[in-house]
Amino acid sequence: MNKQLTNNYDVIIIGAGAAGLMAAVSASSIGKKCILLEKNKIPGKKLLVTGKGRCNITNSADIEEIIRNFPGNGKFLYSTLNNFSNKDLLDFLHEYGLKTKLERGGRIFPVSDRAGDVVKTFMKAVERYNIPIKYNTSVKDLIIQDQKITGVTTQTGETYYADSVIVATGGMSYPKTGSTGDGYALAKQAGHQVIAPQPALVPLYTKEKFVKDLMGLSLRNVGITFYGPNGKKIWSDFGEMLFTHFGISGPTVLTGSRIISEYQYKDCKMVIDLKPALDEKKLDARLLRDFEKYHNKQYKNALSDLLPSKMIPVFVELSEINPELIVNQITAEQRRAIGRLLKNFGLTVEKPASLNEAIVTKGGVNVKEINSSTMESNLVPGLFFAGEVIDIDGFTGGFNLTAAFSTGYTAGLYA
Ligand SMILES: Cc1cc2nc3c(=O)[nH]c(=O)nc-3n(C[C@H](O)[C@H](O)[C@H](O)COP(=O)(O)OP(=O)(O)OC[C@H]3O[C@@H](n4cnc5c(N)ncnc54)[C@H](O)[C@@H]3O)c2cc1C
Repeated sequence: MNKQLTNNYDVIIIGAGAAGLMAAVSASSIGKKCILLEKNKIPGKKLLVTGKGRCNITNSADIEEIIRNFPGNGKFLYSTLNNFSNKDLLDFLHEYGLKTKLERGGRIFPVSDRAGDVVKTFMKAVERYNIPIKYNTSVKDLIIQDQKITGVTTQTGETYYADSVIVATGGMSYPKTGSTGDGYALAKQAGHQVIAPQPALVPLYTKEKFVKDLMGLSLRNVGITFYGPNGKKIWSDFGEMLFTHFGISGPTVLTGSRIISEYQYKDCKMVIDLKPALDEKKLDARLLRDFEKYHNKQYKNALSDLLPSKMIPVFVELSEINPELIVNQITAEQRRAIGRLLKNFGLTVEKPASLNEAIVTKGGVNVKEINSSTMESNLVPGLFFAGEVIDIDGFTGGFNLTAAFSTGYTAGLYA
């Protein structure tokens, strides 16, 4: 049989992740003959790990607010979000039976708290339109003839033909999920500029080695402030963070990491306010009460009402007060210094963790070379991009998936 006839499609979609699945469904819904080529043996491998396995699908914010949550080229998303918004996405998922719920900060999750249910929902749509998915198939090259796309070839030498190809290969973060940056090489084959991929929303290494002793400790309801070069205050928030064996992570740190990436992480400090609800005066009164309660105890045994136990030895050492000092011998000056440390627990940023640990990739295919209304390449007709392969990146809160689904939908519609 003629291979060209058997492997002939209207649209080839490379990557069965968030953007690729959505693109395939959208193209098929308007009657296009599609095929999804996926290098893994299952669809949506990254989707399965999103939101700690719960998948923060999208956010309830309006379009303006969504765009504000993209420090990386948010304005590029105006058209596509107007074409397919967070509300359209939810209508689509609900139509296929997925129940969703709203949580703090507008975050939307499946009611079941299972990311797997989001993938299953997409697979229902894939089945409805009989979209073939070829697993264990890694696309190696684009076929471009006379400056127009005509198909792709795979690692194993197979050729697939189509008038349109959608590159939905993701970024470079969490490469174990399949997104190893292949899309950048494909984009370069088509003459596209690729902005150097860098980790974004990433844990941070700190210079202080004591973080190792705090590994696994999660702090809730703390104030976090990042300072840049020359002690300039860059960003402040209130929320949750986590100590790791090399530094810090958790929601507020991930967001802060994206903001300080603009300073190349150089000379950046993070200060934790361990008692954000108490101003200096109230905190001193609180310390007085605690020290009265524990007046016959040693200092190191008098902080249990104030700090998590794991943190006490580190805190005591940083305060430079003799741990064995009996509490009633602590001077007013020492007590005020303890208060200051509670409000200003400082850490020095050394560097970001690698792309392997980043939630998203900053960088990717230059947005200036993509038509933001259609996702089509401005350089090669018939070539489309969708999802994280494009140089867009958003904060946590369901924004990155919103962009992947929306750009996927738009690419599918115009491909
Ligand atoms: C731990 C973690 C948690 C996250 N949690 C959230 C969250 O809760 N909410 C949120 O909005 N965002 C979250 N994100 C970000 C979000 O997952 C991504 O932005 C989103 O998945 C990008 O979608 P995509 O389709 O562009 O890429 P991916 O989802 O990465 O899909 C790309 C697909 O292409 C395939 N592929 C790659 N190269 C080839 C090739 N050459 N041939 C064939 N197939 C190929 C890959 O195997 C993969 O299946 C999280 C990310 C991580 C790492």
